[in-house]
Amino acid sequence: MAINPFEWITNFRGGDKPRSVKETAEKDPKSLIGRAYAFAKKAHHGQKRQSGEPYFSHLLAAADILNSWRLDETTIAAGLLHDTVEDTKVTAEDLKKEFGEEIVFLVNGVSKLGRVKYREQDAKAENLRKMIVALSEDLRVIFIKLADRLHNMRTLAAVPPQKQKRIALETDDIYAPLAYRLGMHHLAGELHDLAFPYLHPKENEWLLKSAAEHYERRRIYLEKLRPVVEEKLKEHDLEPIKIDFRAKRISSLYSKLLHHDMDIEKIYDLVAIRLIFKTSAECYAALGIIHKYWPPLPGRIKDYIAMPKPNGYQSLHTVVIGPEHKLIEFQLRSQLMHEHAEQGIAAHWIYKDNKGQPAGGHKKEAEEDLSWIQELRRWQESHPDFEHNAEQFLESMKVDFFRDRIFAVTPRGEVIDLPEGSTPIDFAYRIHTDIGDSCVGAKVNDHIVPLDYILRSGDMVEILTQKKKKPSEDWLRFVKTSSATNHIKSSLRTKHHVLARPTKCELRIAVEDRYGLIKDISTAISKARVNIIKFETNASPGSRFPIDRVQCDTADRQKIEKLVIRLKNIKGVREVSWKII
Ligand code: MN
Repeated sequence: MAINPFEWITNFRGGDKPRSVKETAEKDPKSLIGRAYAFAKKAHHGQKRQSGEPYFSHLLAAADILNSWRLDETTIAAGLLHDTVEDTKVTAEDLKKEFGEEIVFLVNGVSKLGRVKYREQDAKAENLRKMIVALSEDLRVIFIKLADRLHNMRTLAAVPPQKQKRIALETDDIYAPLAYRLGMHHLAGELHDLAFPYLHPKENEWLLKSAAEHYERRRIYLEKLRPVVEEKLKEHDLEPIKIDFRAKRISSLYSKLLHHDMDIEKIYDLVAIRLIFKTSAECYAALGIIHKYWPPLPGRIKDYIAMPKPNGYQSLHTVVIGPEHKLIEFQLRSQLMHEHAEQGIAAHWIYKDNKGQPAGGHKKEAEEDLSWIQELRRWQESHPDFEHNAEQFLESMKVDFFRDRIFAVTPRGEVIDLPEGSTPIDFAYRIHTDIGDSCVGAKVNDHIVPLDYILRSGDMVEILTQKKKKPSEDWLRFVKTSSATNHIKSSLRTKHHVLARPTKCELRIAVEDRYGLIKDISTAISKARVNIIKFETNASPGSRFPIDRVQCDTADRQKIEKLVIRLKNIKGVREVSWKII
């Protein structure tokens, strides 16, 4: 299925296309990639994909995607092997003998992620993304998973419709945002676009029909503008490494149209013009020149170089009024920023030498957004010496900043974020106080476990409850979260109150009834900061002084005595007596 039929944009990466995985394997069968290639081909021999193609084609495609991201040999080899343990007779032990611990670790990581399923749209999608990162332990596992998903999405048409929808939704809600968070814009956009026709089939059809012409008109307009821009820049001795166009993706066009009455005429950035320079200084200089010839639209100049987006994206954006009074969006960035924008964290592999420009060249004190992924980026950037030391480099890919958190899953697939050392009781209270209070047992991954069992990331936890059950004091010994501790304590306290200590009193007020008396009595009671639970009037006919019986929510003698004095001062109150009940 065509993703974006308007994708005539030049492909993002400059330089040579890396040699394909097949070529590498055939040229050097003894290399790691060569051996993984042969091994996977043999292991999956005879297996077919739903499309009827040999299964191996999927592994080769995933490995080629990793290769196009210029990831290391080990990751590419693990990409070739990522389904062997799960889908063939090959065991982790076999793989270890053949390829060593590291590959097994990566392959197992991908298998673990395969068990994470996202079933319904839910506000906790962010937790699921975090869980994926935490479960991976190593970013290369995520890269392999993303390459796997990308190829599965490209071939989703061959899968039964029910499954298509689930996978598309999971891609749209989990994997595309995850790629975006990792700064892999190109991938994130492609995943959203691939999911779009499955999630919005009608809208997709409409867009393909109606948007094509608009795209084409914009492209022709910008093609005419290109030499003019080049010339103006040249007059000022500026020469971009590359000028290309960025066509707005179908999925993002759609979300923008929703805010613009579905009127494509209103979308001025359908196609943006993109200039790549050597340095950021050249970007700023070029921005000045562009503004000199075409006036910028106020408020539309965005300096993401000085102030990168939370995911690290850097670029200058401006919207100018171009020839024929048409609005044009320009994007200017350096080559390094460009690589980062397209490939995000994966770009750290490309530049082993980044002396010319500091990676993520911003040193601003960003207190404003301490989102987890920004943390991840910072922590990546704080290991700049990895080009000197391969081991340190790999070590730096270990995702260890979630060490103190675990992510456990409910049977419905909702991810619960907990501190390390948490037990099923903590989990239960995190879902709902009542579930915590009435917990009698727990199953983890379908096995009954003791209530002090220490949960691990990825555990599927089912809480067994019993009505009217109360928490046990014993739980306080092992629960980890303060919310569980507090709930248990307060629940225990309530229990004691009911049994041991009274909490109510009853007032009997003999009155000479008059208009407004009841209101005066209730005002006096609420002024004493006591709540009325029940109010009854014993107005039997012929009774001279009816008796009001009021139940209140206090058993505090002093409070009650003060209240009695107040009540006695009310006109029409003849006598007040009380007792604690
Ligand atoms: Mn796969």
